[in-house]
Amino acid sequence: MINETHDANLKSWVESANDPNTDFPIQNLPFCRAIDESGSEGPFVGVVIGDKILELTDENCAAIDVVYPFGDSDDAVIRDCSSKTLSDLRRTLSNALRAENEGTFREILAFDLHDRAECQILHPFLIGDYTDFYCSIYHATNVGSMFRPDNPLMPNYKYIPIGYHGRASSIVLSGEDVKRPHGQNRSDAEKPPIFVPSRNLDYEMELGFFVGQGNELGQPIPISAAEAHIFGVCLVNDWSARDIQGWEYQPLGPFLAKNFATTISPFVVTMEALAPFRTNAFERAAADPQPLDYLADENNKKFGGLDINLEVYIQTEKMRDANIDPFCLSRSNTKDLYWTIGQMLTHHASNGCNLQAGDLLATGTVSGKEKSERGCLLELTWRGKDPIDLPSGEQRRFLEDGDEIIMKGFCEREGFRRIGLGECRGRITPAD
Ligand code: MN
Repeated sequence: MINETHDANLKSWVESANDPNTDFPIQNLPFCRAIDESGSEGPFVGVVIGDKILELTDENCAAIDVVYPFGDSDDAVIRDCSSKTLSDLRRTLSNALRAENEGTFREILAFDLHDRAECQILHPFLIGDYTDFYCSIYHATNVGSMFRPDNPLMPNYKYIPIGYHGRASSIVLSGEDVKRPHGQNRSDAEKPPIFVPSRNLDYEMELGFFVGQGNELGQPIPISAAEAHIFGVCLVNDWSARDIQGWEYQPLGPFLAKNFATTISPFVVTMEALAPFRTNAFERAAADPQPLDYLADENNKKFGGLDINLEVYIQTEKMRDANIDPFCLSRSNTKDLYWTIGQMLTHHASNGCNLQAGDLLATGTVSGKEKSERGCLLELTWRGKDPIDLPSGEQRRFLEDGDEIIMKGFCEREGFRRIGLGECRGRITPAD
């Protein structure tokens, strides 16, 4: 629901939040965990505002008349919390950070306002489980047609939000290096596989979303209630070793090709902040089946989609040395996903599987119809057949050591303030 916290005219007494180019104006207020490296205090939970992070404590929350919602603030853990609780906190923070309320609240909050540049940013949640879906029909069709030209989409695709269980322990934060993995490679079908560093290393541009409130084992989540269980979203780079994947994936799906690292952006943009950027669910072709009843709901159909722009950039070592700006590889949008995030969550819990606060779910590679909207190199270079020319004179089929992938996400709509998801970046370092 759109409310006064989305008003495009709101300004903050935190000056940097009023910069038209910031991802984090007062209309956004994403959550994070951090440690201020300039002080001696421990980790804290906070909200991002401009180039600052407002640490939330039991005391300052009480002083602005809201209950700190995550248990004991000294624990610095984001715990199970309802969307109503988050909404109350958002309204109170929005009010306290507004320019016109500076006189009342600045003194109360100034001490807990940290420079983002001075903070070490931590994982936003203690991520218990991670699940990755495959919800872009354009991505699935492109990839499928490389391997099965006559039958690119499997018969289940339009009925099931396809997914697999990923690995939570190797989820790293934006800015951390990613080491090229070793794995079994059988690119020469005439010979036995060899164990070597991956030669076809790729990224996947995805949207992630965190469970804010779980469900009991055995208790599914109806589609009408799905969104109330979602805390918010982040950017996800599902690094993928295509050579390892091609050899290992049958019959049980991705394993070591994916679980060596997954990079996320650290600031969680709440579902309420995204309210102005909701759109209808994907419009299915007339010949396509409608979702089964447990995945169908009027609200989901009308507003279940998300209009989030996603961009992927590459900067090679040579480009960095020559001061060449990162080069844009693709631009896509989550509104092109065949399934909504509500449907993904409801499907995940539909057999009674219990989701828990802090679980990360991701959409799968977000690709659109056009070539410029393909969210991974596998698609962009068509398995390496059609290399990409870079402004440094280099070419890329897959990622080389020293390459940095930078992902960005933002929402724009006339009449509303632009908000962003920040960045998700990671650089490839050589295999051992
Ligand atoms: Mn993926």
